[in-house]
Amino acid sequence: MIKVFLKKGRDESLRRFHPWVFSGAIAQIQGSPAEGDIVAVYSAEGDYLACGHYQVGSIAVRILSFDADPTAPEFWTDSIGRALSVRRAALPKDGMTNCFRLVHGEGDGLPGLIIDWYDGVCVMQAHSVGMFRAKSQICEALKSVFGDELKAVYDKSSGTAPFKAGLELIDGYLYKAPGFGNAENVVLENGNKFYVNWEEGQKTGFFLDQRDNRALVGRYAAGRKVLNLFCYTGGFSIYALNNGAVSVDSVDSSAKAMMMVDRNVALNGCGNHTSVCADAIEYLGKVEAGKYDLMIVDPPAFAKHRGALKNALRAYQRLNAAAISKVAPGGLVFTFSCSQVVDKITFANTVFSAAAQTGRSVRILDRLCQGADHPVSIYHPEGEYLKGLLLYVE
Ligand code: SAH
Repeated sequence: MIKVFLKKGRDESLRRFHPWVFSGAIAQIQGSPAEGDIVAVYSAEGDYLACGHYQVGSIAVRILSFDADPTAPEFWTDSIGRALSVRRAALPKDGMTNCFRLVHGEGDGLPGLIIDWYDGVCVMQAHSVGMFRAKSQICEALKSVFGDELKAVYDKSSGTAPFKAGLELIDGYLYKAPGFGNAENVVLENGNKFYVNWEEGQKTGFFLDQRDNRALVGRYAAGRKVLNLFCYTGGFSIYALNNGAVSVDSVDSSAKAMMMVDRNVALNGCGNHTSVCADAIEYLGKVEAGKYDLMIVDPPAFAKHRGALKNALRAYQRLNAAAISKVAPGGLVFTFSCSQVVDKITFANTVFSAAAQTGRSVRILDRLCQGADHPVSIYHPEGEYLKGLLLYVE
């Protein structure tokens, strides 16, 4: 294994189990690793610290292990088996949910790897060259961990793995059980049914991180007129409809997503639903005040990197001010941000400013985050990306 030596004093974060080595912390590399190679990291004094995937860029090594040997044959089955144990501990055992995030990058000690489980179908996204190159080992490990339960493994890394010469970034199946031929599954989430199409859909096909927040919307939905902005395939809408909402209007700018919403509404046998394919911000601008008494505002990440932060915060403030000003008296606003660079305090401050702009009396009823199948390593707080507030607006 190629050895990477850190500068003096730059070993502290690894000794605290943070999973990244920045290129500026490296004193010298013995040999010339190819991107994605597993390298061993040593302190300036020569102490072995950890090993991980080598990358070209500001993060130079993403740590796979502080003790085990990631080149050992059992490494991937052990890592995926551990990730599954976390889900078995965290998810309800009532048989009403058969989709979850199985591997959540740094949160599972596997930086750069995402695997979502849709009732037997694993959809994998590699965010690093190292994980992309490991995909056949990962697939073999999934087969050995799940046995006959595994129906397929679909690699959807073309939009996430860094494009590098020599990497063939084409999405496709790494494994199909005999007889498997569908590009979508019907999954159950807290008893609600959803079509998930991993080939055509956004990300891996479904936003699993909102499961608990959707359940919360379900708890508050009875008797309310609901507006679901940035609805994608209608996750929040279906929970609201299945839990006694008077009506639900769902808005997304993607025509493909709106077709899936209609299919999901039919699948659940719900009525009182209207699909609107439109820009959510324009739609909200035209909404008559008081028409809705429960709103969900779950936009895509406005800030994808630090440089975009200032404009993103302005956009969050405008959007939230519009929602708070339009919701009926006694209404609820579930508002979210999934931008990793917007931390929860900054988000809360932005929503405070939005509320102040409207002059209405606003209470925080709940603070929301990603579900337990998107765990955050305590040593890597950057892994906490989804945050939200449940507001009561007088
Ligand atoms: N709430 C959803 C996930 C939202 S993801 C769920 O629970 O599944 C963000 C969504 O915003 C995507 O579906 C995307 O198509 C949509 N979108 C992006 N920009 C938009 C805009 N300006 N107006 C409306 N929808 C938009």
